[in-house]
Amino acid sequence: MPKVLAINAGSSSLKFQLFSMPEETVIAKGIVERIGFKDAIFSIHFGGEKAKNVLSIPDHKMAVELLLEKLRSLGIIGSYNEIEGIGHRVVHGGETFSDSVLITDEVIRQIEDLADLAPLHNRANVTGIKAFKEILPDVPAVAVFDTAFHQTMPESSFLYSLPYEYYKNYRIRKYGFHGTSHKYVSLRAAELLGRPIEQLRLISCHLGNGSSICAIQGGKSIDTSMGFTPLEGIPMGTRSGNVDPAIIPYIMEKTGQTAEEVIEVLNKKSGLLALSGFSSDLRDIEEEAEKGNPRAELALEVFANSIHKYIGSYAARMNGVDAIIFTAGIGENSSVVRSRVLRGLEFMGVYWDPELNKTRGKEAFINYPFSPVKVLVIPTNEELMIARDVIRLTK
Ligand code: ADP
Repeated sequence: MPKVLAINAGSSSLKFQLFSMPEETVIAKGIVERIGFKDAIFSIHFGGEKAKNVLSIPDHKMAVELLLEKLRSLGIIGSYNEIEGIGHRVVHGGETFSDSVLITDEVIRQIEDLADLAPLHNRANVTGIKAFKEILPDVPAVAVFDTAFHQTMPESSFLYSLPYEYYKNYRIRKYGFHGTSHKYVSLRAAELLGRPIEQLRLISCHLGNGSSICAIQGGKSIDTSMGFTPLEGIPMGTRSGNVDPAIIPYIMEKTGQTAEEVIEVLNKKSGLLALSGFSSDLRDIEEEAEKGNPRAELALEVFANSIHKYIGSYAARMNGVDAIIFTAGIGENSSVVRSRVLRGLEFMGVYWDPELNKTRGKEAFINYPFSPVKVLVIPTNEELMIARDVIRLTK
């Protein structure tokens, strides 16, 4: 059976899932963490079993060697020949990539060129790509970009109202992220609705530590809440989402911080963490709100209101909506957030059932049967999309 590896390489980590295709079953998955340290951690789950090792892993190449060696020694694969392809998640594809591609030296160079736009992420992704290429040079590899799905956005959605030469000279525009997830759930929604995706107007809410909303018309992203970077849009775990840009020099003047330091605050110390004052994790916030903590309550309200407003504006943009989709950690699990987002949308035909809304972590319709607008919970599966693209592009 052909096997495909889906890889997500970070600066010090490497997440993997091994799929058997075309059945699309996960045979093994895991993570190598703390790459570059003496006490790096290798963890793997396979066939109901788990294994974990703490050992020195100096670089990504060693991490890949270890992963492949483990797949063999644990009997998960017989030989490396069984791996038919490798799919790499790449954060930024800029305007260069509007679909996944087979990786060549030229593609690697192009991804490196785009590192300007996502320095930490793209460089880490390339490190992962090169490590596999060295060890398995004959196995085809595919790059799957977080931004690619959003390349269908019209200029009227992606352009900021800034001097046009900033776009032309410096590539400043809205790119959007979480594209693989928005694409997966929109395709799945069409299947569950039993309608061709070409006919559908969908709003996908990917709500995790990072969150974004996407308007999908006829299967194409036409607008999304994240922008030039993942900082734009709704408040997230630790990201601020939209703020008046004039606040940045004002904070610099008041606190003596540099622009970089303020952006760090906007990325790492804002969002739910700042609003609640104690945690970026929605479970903690729900628990405290339940006990009557006013800051936790405030965090929930600001978060939900922001999503609610995006839904309204995207419905306006598409002259209506056929279905609203919730996905990722919060979207799949939090009935509290979903109910606060959905309340007060009856005016546009959204009627949801509080009983069905109790669902958690599995595919479900949570609307009343008579509701003109359907509401779905769909667990996302970016790794599966990556594995499918490997098959599509290597066959
Ligand atoms: P990432 O963007 O890191 O992939 P996830 O999609 O895993 O994030 O989402 C993480 C968020 O999901 C956290 O805020 C977490 O609290 C929230 N979450 C996970 N499980 C639940 C749950 N059962 N109820 C409410 N929130 C949850």
